[in-house]
Amino acid sequence: MANIIDGKAIARRFKDTLKEEVNFLKGRSVKPGLAVVLVGDNPASLVYVKAKGKACEEIGINSFQYTLHKDIAQKELLWQISELNNDAKVHGILVQLPLPDHLDEELILEAISPEKDVDGFHPVNIGRLVIGKPLFQPCTPMGIMKLLEDTGMELAGKDAVVAGRSNIVGKPVALMLLHKNATVTICHSKTLNLREKVKKADILIAAVGRPHMIKGEWIKQEAVVIDVGINRLDNGKLVGDVEFEEAQKRAAFITPVPGGVGPMTIAMLMHNTVEAAKRQSSGYR
Ligand code: NAD
Repeated sequence: MANIIDGKAIARRFKDTLKEEVNFLKGRSVKPGLAVVLVGDNPASLVYVKAKGKACEEIGINSFQYTLHKDIAQKELLWQISELNNDAKVHGILVQLPLPDHLDEELILEAISPEKDVDGFHPVNIGRLVIGKPLFQPCTPMGIMKLLEDTGMELAGKDAVVAGRSNIVGKPVALMLLHKNATVTICHSKTLNLREKVKKADILIAAVGRPHMIKGEWIKQEAVVIDVGINRLDNGKLVGDVEFEEAQKRAAFITPVPGGVGPMTIAMLMHNTVEAAKRQSSGYR
């Protein structure tokens, strides 16, 4: 029976350490600040933004929330970002995705200064990740790597399979695994025979967004399974991409949904914000 990777507890530990670090910084007149920009009233986004605000409060990070009208002109949003780029109290800027259709997401993300891009989505930060010289890395993949680290498993030489190739999860986590010397296979919607690939995985990262699409009997004995998927069933229950009960019988370690990757994402956002504050304050470079 697999060990359950308790993302909630691991995230708690991270946040406790960050809290101490923030206290230390405050003693030196540095108060980390995170600006969260929400456009419109997407209910899921509202929940995420609220959770981020709560985490800031817990840790002692200044949280600046901007809720902008769903019809805001692109020019106006760009102006708002430029104001935040120039605001010394704001060390990290996050634009909550998805944006309404009339806004050019790429252009908006590129407008954030790479030094304040705590979501790690700016092309400069993605490029730095590619060459193995990261500044800010995307939070969910970073959280996944911390969970893997917590298992104590050596990643070098392991066969890792990443199901999903999004810019926010699949691609960056594949790069991070590669930098740890795993042999990485990236699977996606056009991949043939996913089952055979999963069966060979010492490490499986499931980031597709389809309930239980990865069958428990595909899991290799003693594999580490990180389930990123968050899927709500008709009965309201939240489940991952992996058939948990069956997979648990074969894996050495597995994350639950909820309580696995989710809490780590916010903890890593807080980590990036504290790092941004340190970088932007003289004496901490
Ligand atoms: P996405 O929709 O952008 O990407 C899904 C990926 O799955 C695509 O790259 C696609 O090619 C791939 N895919 C589709 N069908 C496939 C198949 N049959 N076999 C293999 N790959 C297939 O999704 P995303 O934004 O990367 O998110 C993935 C899941 O992770 C979602 O459930 C999302 O809610 C969840 N998520 C969780 C967190 C968290 O903090 N826990 C953060 C981000 C995303």
